Amino acid sequence: MLIVKKFGGSSVANKERIFNVARRCIEEYRSGKDVVVVLSAMGDTTDELIAMAEDINPRAKKREMDMLLTTGEQVSAALMAMAMQALDVPAVSLNAFQVMMHSTSRYGNARFKRVETERILHELDSRKIVIVTGFQGVNKYDDVTTLGRGGSDTTAVALAAALHADRCEIYTDVDGVFTADPRVVKNARKLDEVTYDEMLELASLGAKVLHNRSVEMAKKYNVELVVRSSLNYSEGTVVREGADMEKLLVTGVAADKNTARISAIGVLDKPGIAFNIFDTLAKNNINVDIILQSVGREGTKDISFTVAGDDMEHAIEILEKNKKRLTIKEVSCNPNVAKLSVVGAGMMSNPGVAAKMFEALYNSRVNINMISTSEIRITVLVDEKDIDKAMNAVHDGFAMGE
Ligand code: ADP
Ligand code: ASP
Ligand code: MG
Repeated sequence: MLIVKKFGGSSVANKERIFNVARRCIEEYRSGKDVVVVLSAMGDTTDELIAMAEDINPRAKKREMDMLLTTGEQVSAALMAMAMQALDVPAVSLNAFQVMMHSTSRYGNARFKRVETERILHELDSRKIVIVTGFQGVNKYDDVTTLGRGGSDTTAVALAAALHADRCEIYTDVDGVFTADPRVVKNARKLDEVTYDEMLELASLGAKVLHNRSVEMAKKYNVELVVRSSLNYSEGTVVREGADMEKLLVTGVAADKNTARISAIGVLDKPGIAFNIFDTLAKNNINVDIILQSVGREGTKDISFTVAGDDMEHAIEILEKNKKRLTIKEVSCNPNVAKLSVVGAGMMSNPGVAAKMFEALYNSRVNINMISTSEIRITVLVDEKDIDKAMNAVHDGFAMGE
């Protein structure tokens, strides 16, 4: 039996936590299982490394950023191997290069293409616990890459899929997946199970408990995930296909503060303008989320849309540069907005979910700036200062905590 266990940054934040994780892995190993451990960087290491880079060069090349950020995971992997060895258990730490975790070239946001298993299987054969650095890959230029913030979850799932692991466990600092971020919503309730599709929506819409691409990959390769705490032995949440599960009307709410609104004001009200604007943004790798177009007046209209907060400046730069061709009179922006989403597979067959969400927001006097819906989610854009209040109001409005 082979198990992949992933531990996030807070689970390995200091010596005591590292030994706690080492002991948990050793228990599993002593019961005869093969154990592969995926680790994140200790505590806030990644944030600290980013701050160091910004201090030296705010326009640092992404390649060098990845060279820097990958060191965080290498530290925790090496220290974990040393901790296990100190407890007299054979262990070996490996980075993405040693495993050969092949990724695309895109620094800072690489995706796995293929993961080799030979080295890991060889080490497992000699009854070692194998510790692998999360969050990193190797590209065709033999450079190290990173997978985007929170990417260690994706390393764990990629390894579980490649090794045909029997289990993939994601250990973190909360007891599982909740109906909302338990640090923001005090009535949030732990879910026993959640489907891949619902989890993918929640993760993509800001519930950072799992990296969204880890969920995408788990669904694709049918890897059942368990999300649980590294600090206690409670059961956690199972993420899996939910064909015969009872479909809840709403499963959870998620918030995303890394959002900005941009408006292209006074563009010509004729065919092709929206196409040109969004095509130009797409060609510059900018993802656009909610889009709202005003009704035309006197031959012009306004188009507003949201982008990730980190992309705002780049998006404005591009629009300004192409202002004339895109017929834009003025570009405006607001970085102080946040997205709030409710997710639930049961929404498809139940009218009135949107109205209920808007009622909850109205009752707590939160203004809605933009709205977008899909089959299993409703997203609204609100002022960032209102987001925690809005999240609590909507969560409790649907009685998700009960
Ligand atoms: P790790 O370092 O273990 O990867 P993260 O900080 O990436 O941990 O993710 C865990 C955090 O996700 C929790 O501390 C919690 O605040 C946050 N979170 C957001 N939404 C949810 C949710 N729906 N359920 C559980 N945790 C959530
Ligand atoms: N250390 C990386 C980050 O902070 C990856 C991870 O934690 O999953 O984003
Ligand atoms: Mg994480």
